[in-house]
Amino acid sequence: MFGQGIVKGLWVTFKHFIATYTADVRRGTEQYLGSTLADTPFEVRQGTKAKGIFTVQYPEEKLAVPERFRFIPFLVVENYDHPERPGHDWCTSCGICAKVCPPQCIWIVRGEDPQTKRPIPEPQAFFIDIDICMNCGLCAEFCPFDAIKMDHDYELASYDRTANHIYDKAKLSKEFRYWQTIAPTTAAEEAEARGGWEHSDVIKERKKAEASAAKAGGAARGAAGGAAQRPRGQAAATSEAAAGQAADAPKPEAADDAAAAAEKAKAERLAKREAALARKRAREQGGQ
Ligand code: SF4
Ligand code: SF4
Repeated sequence: MFGQGIVKGLWVTFKHFIATYTADVRRGTEQYLGSTLADTPFEVRQGTKAKGIFTVQYPEEKLAVPERFRFIPFLVVENYDHPERPGHDWCTSCGICAKVCPPQCIWIVRGEDPQTKRPIPEPQAFFIDIDICMNCGLCAEFCPFDAIKMDHDYELASYDRTANHIYDKAKLSKEFRYWQTIAPTTAAEEAEARGGWEHSDVIKERKKAEASAAKAGGAARGAAGGAAQRPRGQAAATSEAAAGQAADAPKPEAADDAAAAAEKAKAERLAKREAALARKRAREQGGQ
């Protein structure tokens, strides 16, 4: 019959309309007086089993966004309480994200060593113009270091359309644990692909160190086994050779230098950690 589909569609709408009021009658007028509204969890009222038409009381109420939701990108940095690299950028300033960004709204200044002036794998500055960003997520898709991710924060409106919407590195940086909180499944999948929860460089370095330690251990075991099988005369010769090597071994001053360097590195790490925590505190105070 002509118009049957329209009638069916309108019937569905009408049922929802009626259900809104029958639900109110069932619960009395409490919904408008507040108590039931406040007591019923938001997820239940907005769930698939809920009846009627509901209005989200934004901004007091907000719909939960799905894990894959994406808005403005943010930069992942090491957790501020990380023992070795607190607040360290995961970004290596390779520039891939800036290259693939369709509206070209990413600017990166590569970091350089203050002494040698050679480039180092971390960004000195990183800017995203959030008014131009179209939330496509390509930067996050292409980043080979999982260093840029799409944020869930969508309340970014302000009255200033100039510098306020050009986010710098400090504004863009967020701890790795934030990414784990907003996207637990994706973060776990990425960690599995990297071979651990940390930055791929850290994982690579650790694997290298473990491999050389295993190699050194194997060589030492081999040498010990050989010495045990050698006749006494040869063993004496070996011990003389070992004594010669010991004479060539680093002198105590060299050991002192190494200890001083280790101390210096530790102090630098602590200073970095303090600076990262101070930045975090400043950001939190700024956001309040
Ligand atoms: S692609 Fe990743 S690592 Fe490379 S510059 Fe962009 S955020 Fe940094
Ligand atoms: S989300 Fe898309 S538009 Fe926005 S910075 Fe990334 S690549 Fe550029």
